[in-house]
Amino acid sequence: STAEELLAVDSIHTYYGQSHILFDLSLSIDRGEIVALVGRNGAGKTTTLRSVLGLTPPAEGTIAKDGEPIDGLEPYEIRKRGISWVPEERRVFGGLTVEENLRLAASTGEGDQSDGFEDVYERFPRLDERRSQKAGTMSGGEQQMLAIARALLGPETDVLLLDEPSEGLAPQIVDDVADIVRELNEEEGVTILLVEQNAEMALELADHAYVLENGRIVHDSPAAELLADREAMEGYLGVK
Ligand code: ATP
Repeated sequence: STAEELLAVDSIHTYYGQSHILFDLSLSIDRGEIVALVGRNGAGKTTTLRSVLGLTPPAEGTIAKDGEPIDGLEPYEIRKRGISWVPEERRVFGGLTVEENLRLAASTGEGDQSDGFEDVYERFPRLDERRSQKAGTMSGGEQQMLAIARALLGPETDVLLLDEPSEGLAPQIVDDVADIVRELNEEEGVTILLVEQNAEMALELADHAYVLENGRIVHDSPAAELLADREAMEGYLGVK
């Protein structure tokens, strides 16, 4: 295969204080892929993202982007290498307008990012129409769109880490979010690491899947293969 490895997480161990959360965890993401990381509550999915982002650096193991080590770098340096994320629960500022949310995010980066700004509006016309609407009055799907747009501001994003984008959304809106993720991947070439409780949504979108259980990878296969394996779906994920 000619696949090019974009992100390589190799045998990491991550702790919160004395609590050992991730055990010898490895995963590999090729450029252009959508990779799903699924597993039950508390399995360590968010901690895996925090490890990659440098927010909770692993105590052991290595992480490389495009073959270059990134573990040990500060989060802002990791962001400059093209790794961005959308945190759980979106965390948009409900009292601020769409425009203010984006300006605030841009202002925490370096230099003038007003260019990136118009790109974002072009990519998400719904946000353009709602520049002056308070984010808190938008639908959950629109807020998720804003959170994704915000993550794309600043340095070019090669790989986007999405933490439970479907959380708390009605099924119809989950489909809209899935469409956004698919378009970002197919049209903009953004590589995606998708963490989801909603395993079916994630596996329908993804090329490859990893299942996390108690901080360990217990299964890894093409996403379609896992989705079709009813025993594994029920055993690992409780999906009947
Ligand atoms: P969820 O879907 O519920 O968010 P998750 O798979 O993302 O679950 P994590 O949030 O990574 O799981 O949590 C993994 C484990 O680490 C859990 O046992 C959790 O209680 C613990 N944990 C998370 N954050 C901290 C923290 N700041 N300090 C101590 N323990 C933590």
